[in-house]
Amino acid sequence: MNDQYTGCGQPHSLPLQQLGWTDEHEDAYAKYDGPYRPGRVACRQKTVWEVLTEDGQVTAGISGAMRKLGRYPAVGDFVVLLVRPEAGTTMIVDILPRKTLFSRGASGREGTDQVIAANVDTVFIVTAAGHDLNARRTERYLAIAHASGARPVVIINKADLAEDPASLAEGVVPASSGIPVVTLSALTGEGIDRIEPFLAPGKTIVLIGSSGVGKSTLINRLLDRSVQETGGIRDYDGKGRHTTTVRQLFVLDGGALMIDNPGLREVGIGTAVAGLSDTFPDIQELAAGCRFADCRHEGEPGCAVREAVERGDLSPARLENYHRLARELVFEQEKAEIGLVRSERKRWKQISGYAKQVKEHRDRWE
Ligand code: GDP
Ligand code: ZN
Repeated sequence: MNDQYTGCGQPHSLPLQQLGWTDEHEDAYAKYDGPYRPGRVACRQKTVWEVLTEDGQVTAGISGAMRKLGRYPAVGDFVVLLVRPEAGTTMIVDILPRKTLFSRGASGREGTDQVIAANVDTVFIVTAAGHDLNARRTERYLAIAHASGARPVVIINKADLAEDPASLAEGVVPASSGIPVVTLSALTGEGIDRIEPFLAPGKTIVLIGSSGVGKSTLINRLLDRSVQETGGIRDYDGKGRHTTTVRQLFVLDGGALMIDNPGLREVGIGTAVAGLSDTFPDIQELAAGCRFADCRHEGEPGCAVREAVERGDLSPARLENYHRLARELVFEQEKAEIGLVRSERKRWKQISGYAKQVKEHRDRWE
C-alpha cells in the first residue's frame, strides 16, 4: 500500500458512479464487451492520459484510429480502455458522448484538440464584491456556462469586504432567471456551506470568472478539506511511471469532483456563441417574429425586437447588452480563429450566422 504516486491525479479507486458515471454513459458503453473497461480522464500529458477507473488510476495512450481522427480525450471525458494484460498495455479506444463541454474557440467542435473540460455538471461563475460585480460581466460568463451545457451558479465572493453582504446579489442576476446566487467569503470561510448543496457526490464542477475574484482561494479552500491520500494504485502497464503533470480532476471531500486547469481559468467569451440565446431567451423568442431571419435588431424593417422595445415590453438597456455581447462574441471568435485583420469585415456576417450555430449546437447536445 505504499506506492508513491506523483502523477496528476489523486490515486483513487472509486465506483464509477462516484466518478460521475450516469445511465447515459452506461447506455453508450453497453456495446463494449470483452477486454474493455471504462474510466474518466484525470489529466493529459502530451501523449498519455491519466485515467481513473474502478480499480485505480492508469496511464494510457490513445489508439491510432483516434489519433488519425484527431479525437483527443480531454479532462473529464469518460473513455473506453482496451486492456491487454498479456501485452501489458492499456489504450484508450473511444470517448463516450460528452454531456457537456468547454471548448476553446466558438464552434464547440467535438473530437478536436480544443476541448478544455468535458462532462461538467455545474459551473460556478465567481465574481466578487468591490471587484467586477456587474450584470454585464456576469451575463458574459452565463453565456459561457450555457454554451457548455452545464448548469450555472453565481458565486459572489469577498462578502467580507461588503458592508451589506445580503444586498450584493441584487442587480447581478435577475431574480427571475432562476439562477442560484451564493454569497460567501473564500478568505474567511464565511458562507462556504452555502455551496454545499451544489457539491453532491459524483457531480462535476468547475470555477470560472475574471482574474482576481478569488477562484484560486476558493479552490484551495475546497481542496483543503479534501486532502486524503490513499494508497494502492494499480498500474495496468506495470510501469508505475512517475509523472510531473499537474492534476486537473479532484475528488472533493463530500464526493463531488472538481476540474481545474489553466484552460478553464482563461476561458473567455469566445466559447460562448451558443450561449447567447440562452442568456437572452426573451430576445431570442422575440426575434422569431422578425421579418428577416438574419435580423440584427438594429433598425431593419419588421423587427419584432425593436417593436417590443417601443411597446415597452423589452428594456432598451437589455437590447443594448445583447448587442454588446454579440459584438464581443464575434470579436473574440475572430481573434481566436482568424486573427484580427479580417475581423471587422466578417463581423456582421458572423452574427447572422448565430441562429444557425445555436440550432446546430442544440441539436447536438440536447
Ligand atoms: P483568482 O485570480 O480568481 O484565482 O483570485 P485569487 O484566488 O488569486 O485571489 C485574488 C486576491 O483576492 C488574493 O489576494 C486573495 O487573497 C483575495 N481574496 C480571495 N478571496 C477573498 C475573500 O473572500 N475576501 C477577501 N477580502 N479577499 C479575498
Ligand atoms: Zn429584429
